[in-house]
Amino acid sequence: MKEAKISEIFLSIQGEGLYVGVPQLFIRFYGCNLSCIFCDTNFDSYRTFTPDALMGEIPESKGPYHSISLTGGEPLLQADFIRDFLDKYKKFYKKLVYLETNGTLYRELSKVIDYVDIIAMDFKLPSSTGRASFWKEHEKFLKIAKKRKTFAKAIITHKTISGDILRMAEIVKKISNDIPIVLQPVTTLIDSEKTSRESLERFRDILKESTEPVEIIPQVHKIIGVK
Ligand code: SF4
Repeated sequence: MKEAKISEIFLSIQGEGLYVGVPQLFIRFYGCNLSCIFCDTNFDSYRTFTPDALMGEIPESKGPYHSISLTGGEPLLQADFIRDFLDKYKKFYKKLVYLETNGTLYRELSKVIDYVDIIAMDFKLPSSTGRASFWKEHEKFLKIAKKRKTFAKAIITHKTISGDILRMAEIVKKISNDIPIVLQPVTTLIDSEKTSRESLERFRDILKESTEPVEIIPQVHKIIGVK
């Protein structure tokens, strides 16, 4: 039987992207295949679940919520488990399934795409992450993801360069004109590392020439102090 490592299960509101403010039941999967320089995810502990055990953790009595959010880490590292779990979940619950992913594991996405309703796909800009680029992986991922309601999200730091914004725009436009892009300035208390308003406006202008719509949305859950 498939098992998954899960760090936490909790009710909260979505704090990022186009669904900000929406109540969700978060299932945070343990582990990630990347190591972004700005990562603030806590990978200290996890519990192991079978699909049946996880079903037992999410009765309707947890309260009203719009959707379940499969988040991480990178949930698609445990795609076989997710497919088995969602096969059960969708038979009992009518809630939407929202996948938060770093947009690199396209083979794994194809295993679960039939069960997912909304995809929030991170675009890992190398100038932001301080790591390698994933342009080819993101393109292959988006080709599969466009079957569902999908938006792309890019973390912007004080090191993000226009060339990466342009490259992202070209890839998104090549796949579809209907995939919105969200620019998310990284949350930091260090003034010298904050993204300037001028940079954000410049990036938005670059994107506006090739894709629509473009939004600038910070990490709202951190601003209002919820999980
Ligand atoms: S993809 Fe997300 S969870 Fe993984 S290292 Fe980057 S920021 Fe952290």
